[in-house]
Amino acid sequence: MPSEDTADPWRRVEVRVEGIVQGVGFRPFVHGLAERFALSGQVGNDSAGVLAEVEGPRESVASFLRALPAEAPALADVQHCSVTDRPPRGTSGFRIAHSDSSGPRRTLVSADAATCAACLAELFDPHDRRYRYPFVNCTGCGPRYTIVRDVPYDRGNTTMAGFDLCEPCAREYHDPADRRYHAQPVCCPDCGPTLRLVDSGGAVRGGDPLAGAAELLRAGAVVAVKGLGGYHLAVDATSAPATARLRARKHREDKPFAVMVASLADARRLCAVDDPAERLLTSRRRPIVLLDRRRAGVADAVAPGNRELGLMLPYTPLHHLLLADTGLPLVLTSGNVSDEPIAFTDGDARGRLAGIADAFLLHDRPIHVRADDSVVRPWRGDGVVLRRSRGYAPEPLPVAWEFPRPVLACGAEQKNTVCLASGRRVVVSHHIGDVGNAETLTAFTQAVEHLSRLFDITPAVVAHDLHPDYAATRYAVELADSAGLDAIGVQHHHAHIASCLADNGVAGPVIGVAFDGTGYGTDGTVWGGEFLLATLADFERAGHLAPVPLPGGAAAVRQPWRMAASYLHRDPGSERLAVARRQGGRWDQVVSLARSGVNSPLTSSAGRLFDAVAAILGVRDTVTYEGQAAIELEQRADPHEGGAYPAPVAEREGRLVVDSGALVRAVVDDHCRGTDAAVVAARFHRGLAKAVRRTCDLIAERTGVRTVAVSGGVFANRLLLDRTVDELADAGFTVLTHRRLPCNDGGISAGQAVVAAARDRSAS
Ligand SMILES: [Zn+2]
Ligand SMILES: [Zn+2]
Repeated sequence: MPSEDTADPWRRVEVRVEGIVQGVGFRPFVHGLAERFALSGQVGNDSAGVLAEVEGPRESVASFLRALPAEAPALADVQHCSVTDRPPRGTSGFRIAHSDSSGPRRTLVSADAATCAACLAELFDPHDRRYRYPFVNCTGCGPRYTIVRDVPYDRGNTTMAGFDLCEPCAREYHDPADRRYHAQPVCCPDCGPTLRLVDSGGAVRGGDPLAGAAELLRAGAVVAVKGLGGYHLAVDATSAPATARLRARKHREDKPFAVMVASLADARRLCAVDDPAERLLTSRRRPIVLLDRRRAGVADAVAPGNRELGLMLPYTPLHHLLLADTGLPLVLTSGNVSDEPIAFTDGDARGRLAGIADAFLLHDRPIHVRADDSVVRPWRGDGVVLRRSRGYAPEPLPVAWEFPRPVLACGAEQKNTVCLASGRRVVVSHHIGDVGNAETLTAFTQAVEHLSRLFDITPAVVAHDLHPDYAATRYAVELADSAGLDAIGVQHHHAHIASCLADNGVAGPVIGVAFDGTGYGTDGTVWGGEFLLATLADFERAGHLAPVPLPGGAAAVRQPWRMAASYLHRDPGSERLAVARRQGGRWDQVVSLARSGVNSPLTSSAGRLFDAVAAILGVRDTVTYEGQAAIELEQRADPHEGGAYPAPVAEREGRLVVDSGALVRAVVDDHCRGTDAAVVAARFHRGLAKAVRRTCDLIAERTGVRTVAVSGGVFANRLLLDRTVDELADAGFTVLTHRRLPCNDGGISAGQAVVAAARDRSAS
């Protein structure tokens, strides 16, 4: 067999390419390269990716092999490329072979990608045959994950299977020189999906559906719009009455809405957009980007009490047209009622959104996988993902360690994602949501089945939270029982820290600071303000915030004032505080409840500490969505205030305990002195950050560990994250934070997966 070293001037090689290489124009790209270097041979897709054979002069083959990874198409992600020499056959010409779907599937399905510049130009060109056609796409853009039913990524395996290509589209599809060569969702007004505008009674409205929808939106109507990964509800973002109507009908009182704007220029009118923000806004992933908002531009009710606004640019041709026709920034929020999952089938949308939407902008391309918009925040020159869904999922994330056996990780109860892992990669699902309700649980099981089919991962290990009542935990335990898999329970905050380690490729040991709302502790109490001395495989609870009663359990989560009563239940005179007076007799009842310990489990939750402070400062007594009080407290804080409240750290039973009650008492003292709430909120944030630093210093003194991993949903609080990272860096620690995986419970599944694998490795 010829090898690199022989002098044979002629060479034939087999090239195997793995990664995201299907449905991204890879075969035409290889075809073009082969023609450029005058090589013969063929290229095809199979279940492992792309397989090519090329033959020609030795130097030309070498040039081809150099250009292959270097010039790969924009949407491709070449993760592995292997070259094997074959005996030359004297072939001529180059052809593209049909797909072979047999064999194990190692190919990857790419995430949905925003409309590219070339397609956009056609969309707005009156002379183009796809002028104003809302489904224009090519190999460089368009729907992917949300329309794929199975692999390989071929039209027959997508929701475009029911649309036969017309003559001109078929020509483009089969022409290797065309931008649409083997673009699976390719179509045109003659052969592809069509739009229609339907009123709330089900009657189809005549005329151009887009122009009709735009007219309704300008008149203040609520329009349900079928997008890429589900239905959105749209209203004019500049209209206070329209926004209020949407809030009332959707039963969403305060949670901020995201806004879609037509262009970067429009984005700059509403928010401060720096270079990192611009990169995120215009990336093909097109997430919602949280930005500092300017004073005017949208109705206050879009994001009440919030200094940030979530903006996104159009990512489908339909959105581009709708924004252009309406000429207004649009609220675009998930098509659901309060906490239900986003509606993604037509029947479901018509049923569930009937009382909310005045009209429905529909089309007949089915959505196979629901995928909410992703959310990111620019932070220190990069983007931090807070919800990883459309545009990101199911792109596998490489990790630094091998999975000895394939793992399914079932995630947490809220902001649930599931994760499948094998080899050296984790596949984290789209955002599934709160699996407490039946509808979301169905979405959860569908996601598990769909991803294991797409990525051909059959789990041998199933990882889950320790909370016995989580729906995801019950699913995991039942699956392990029925399918004979090994079940591995992973403590909630350990999973948070492990997800941060996976995000950074660091195995530990680290000091893990995990601050969140609620997590089941190994002692059966509710944890949430944790300092863990952690490796991937294991952890020791080195410290925590001082536990306080959670009076009334879940009621305390919905009513932050109860946490104020809990923190102050031993303080005489607390009933004279404004927060107590607002509650009347209920304050004393809750104080008694906290004192008695009845229905008042102990918690070290950092989220509940924020709740107490928010209530004391009059920011919020009750919440309508998770984390609301803490978010509004952050928004209230004066970022320029330099003061900090003290919080002593003491050792109790071998663990460090942060006296978070001291922070609360300092808040009360300053507040009673008449200090501005903005100043008090800032001093509280800074005081907590300093307490984190002191605790980490003490743990480091004992252990020599100088790396700190920061995770948990509370660190979605930018002010706390900034202060904490600065304090830790100032103390000389190496600080690990999240980038690709959310710090909140959306990252739990990936954390569970890497913990399970580490235990697997140490057991073998
Ligand atoms: Zn395109
Ligand atoms: Zn066509």
